[in-house]
Amino acid sequence: MPGAEAPRDVGERIRRLKKELNAVILAHNYQLPEVQEVADYVGDSLELTLRAAETDAKYLVFAGVDFMAEQAAVLNPDKVVLHPDPGARCPMAAMLPRSLLLEYKRRYPGVPVVLYVNTLAEAKAEADYICTSANAVEVVRRVPSDRVVFGPDANLARYVELKTGKEVIAVPPTGHCYVHLSISPEDVEKLREAYPDAEVLAHPECVPEVWAGADLVGSTSSMVRRAGASSAKRFIVATEVGLLHRLRVENPAKEFVPAYQNAVCVFMKRITLEKVYESLRDLKHPVRVPPEIASRVAEALRRTFELLGASR
Ligand code: SF4
Repeated sequence: MPGAEAPRDVGERIRRLKKELNAVILAHNYQLPEVQEVADYVGDSLELTLRAAETDAKYLVFAGVDFMAEQAAVLNPDKVVLHPDPGARCPMAAMLPRSLLLEYKRRYPGVPVVLYVNTLAEAKAEADYICTSANAVEVVRRVPSDRVVFGPDANLARYVELKTGKEVIAVPPTGHCYVHLSISPEDVEKLREAYPDAEVLAHPECVPEVWAGADLVGSTSSMVRRAGASSAKRFIVATEVGLLHRLRVENPAKEFVPAYQNAVCVFMKRITLEKVYESLRDLKHPVRVPPEIASRVAEALRRTFELLGASR
């Protein structure tokens, strides 16, 4: 395109601006490879949340979707969190508005509410506990109740129910991630037959028929750890295809096959290198969470860390 900068030049400008501004870039595992390349940290939402809290940078550029940038803003009130494209919104998070959660709280009085981190702050403020896919089972196991209301991913709710033996009431009952839903058990089965030596790594947002036969069911960070530690040389990866970039960079001698090559989150991919650059150059778009909501979300997170016995 005439006048457009080569990605490498944009990357160099981003690196220069990061230094000048004392900024860091946090990129989710599902981000475009070139965005992952300029990031200071690449990880899942839990890893990035912890990284965001550790850094003393003035600006945090969050290359991910809306609920992640909100979460970083809640935990870092002394920093400026920039979201390169406010249109990068997670449709699953949008499936659980605060009004629906309040309806469930009325319907199930006294039943603890555990929300997956993939939820907007307005709903998180109404939660008792907040979990990630990495610790959802452990959080629900430790909640002092045999029943919990859990949202917004119904597949993860079913996984947690199976693992804990508790009653897990999904809100909404059909909440889902369209990307993980697009991965079919038939596709995984065909790949298993084609690569009998491969390990299957599946995200619990997939349908149960996909994760039921997997060698590992877990978060993207647990997939990265497993790929590094396993003696297997080949892996079938049932999650968003962006993770394959990180897996290949960290394990150049191993082979990673996407369970479904079109498992692409178009919302994650809205964050381009150019938008990251503009975000730093013009300090746009700062994420603001109303203080009364932020303090309630922070309280639910504090309660969760306490439940897990972590001091943070
Ligand atoms: S991959 Fe799924 S859960 Fe993650 S941002 Fe995209 S739609 Fe939301």
